[in-house]
Amino acid sequence: MKHPVIGLCLLGSLILFSCNPKTQVSGSWTLSPQPRSVVENGESYVVKKALPAGVKTCLDATLGQELKPFQQAECYRLDVTGKGITLTAATEVGILRGMQTLEKALPASLGADEVAVLPGATVFDYPEFPYRAFMLDCGRHFFPVETVKKVIDILALHQINEFHWHLSEDQGWRLEIKKYPKLTEVGSWRAGSPVPGQKGHDGVPVSGFYTQEEVRDIVAYAATKGIEVIPEIDLPGHMKAALASYPELGCTGGPYEVACEYGVLDDVLCAGREHTLQFVLDVLDEVMDLFPSRYIHLGGDECPKVRWEACPHCQAKIKELGLKADGHKSAEELLQSWFMDQAVAHLEARDRRAIIWNDVLVDWSNEVIGAPSRKAVIAGWMRPVSTDIAVREGYDAILCPVGHLYLSAGDGNALKGEAYFRRVYDLNVKPEGLTPKQQDHILGVEACLWSERVPNEQDLLWKLLPRLAAVSELQWSAPEGRNYEGFLPRLQRMEALYTARGWNWNPAE
Ligand SMILES: [Zn+2]
Repeated sequence: MKHPVIGLCLLGSLILFSCNPKTQVSGSWTLSPQPRSVVENGESYVVKKALPAGVKTCLDATLGQELKPFQQAECYRLDVTGKGITLTAATEVGILRGMQTLEKALPASLGADEVAVLPGATVFDYPEFPYRAFMLDCGRHFFPVETVKKVIDILALHQINEFHWHLSEDQGWRLEIKKYPKLTEVGSWRAGSPVPGQKGHDGVPVSGFYTQEEVRDIVAYAATKGIEVIPEIDLPGHMKAALASYPELGCTGGPYEVACEYGVLDDVLCAGREHTLQFVLDVLDEVMDLFPSRYIHLGGDECPKVRWEACPHCQAKIKELGLKADGHKSAEELLQSWFMDQAVAHLEARDRRAIIWNDVLVDWSNEVIGAPSRKAVIAGWMRPVSTDIAVREGYDAILCPVGHLYLSAGDGNALKGEAYFRRVYDLNVKPEGLTPKQQDHILGVEACLWSERVPNEQDLLWKLLPRLAAVSELQWSAPEGRNYEGFLPRLQRMEALYTARGWNWNPAE
């Protein structure tokens, strides 16, 4: 042996290694979102089996009885001692939330000679808002089933409970509808995408749609994580792909092409033709068959009225309904409210609730321009105040302002790192100008990812992570429990988890 000393040392460490127990690697209760209450007890538990095995779960309907119903449903308690882990919740979904927290508390990764140890603690936790959503636009670009499932995994890690799936756009119809097969035969394919600063498009086709079987699979997959899938059929604007498939749905009758440009397009569904409304109701019937969700999103944003103003069918409908301009409400805006209301009522008949973008009610000037049914929930995307106005007008509302919670576009996207996180942190979901009763009508917070310039999974995850961590704290944590200084160590911990799961996160943040 050339190096007997080194040989002996190697032999010695091999013996040590084989005789000694595995190296213990401690988990941590520094998590995002931070659980409401963590009381450590000085003990520690050596995790011998992978989750969820080895965790004793108990359903206890009295847990969190003093909380609001939605908080009780999702609340959980974890008791970690030297002897084991007990997870108690009032409902099955509460068990899921507790399991998600446990997953995060474990070390991000373990070597073959390492074993996880959890600091002993009693953890009690519940959410601030019942509606904690993330929206993915699959219209501008198509993301395969596996990517959608990866997004659902990411949402679960952030205690997000609603996956808002944007399935129809000017640039592509992505959902198989049996009664209208051309929607996907024609409407799921476009010839190219715009090139910034240039005319025309890049000539690279974009296509894809989800079969009904795939949709059922995704809905079932999300349910195992305690996540509801909310489909969006965006109407009556953003319908160029449907118009290309069935030109008789439009005011002029076409011909139309699936859009190869982005932005707000003049061609929308005709609100005056009977068969157009029937089309909408038929599509929603199949949508409701596929998605058991409490909410269905009907879009309603960015619908120019130029075609309706010139359309004899739309004008005849305005006359028939006796719609008259009133202050900031034009007859055409009121026609949109009426058109949305037909769909809202159709959902109501099957015990579903509509969500619509704030455009139907309030515009960029903060003027009230429409009068949709108060059964619809208003998603305030233009400004934080769009949501406040909706609540003051007597609606339930969701906060998703472009400048704060659009992860893909708008001025919020120009901010990096601390500036972006602080912007999310500074967002006051329940402004003091609202009464406590009005504040209770803000159901929650949603982040949106539009995919005009997000062509693939790599770019998608890059936009999503780590920003979603800040968003999820806004959704889950109580305002008094959120603090930016505490967020940075929580964020580091989440980034380690992203890396361990192989998720492509953006280190520039
Ligand atoms: Zn028309």
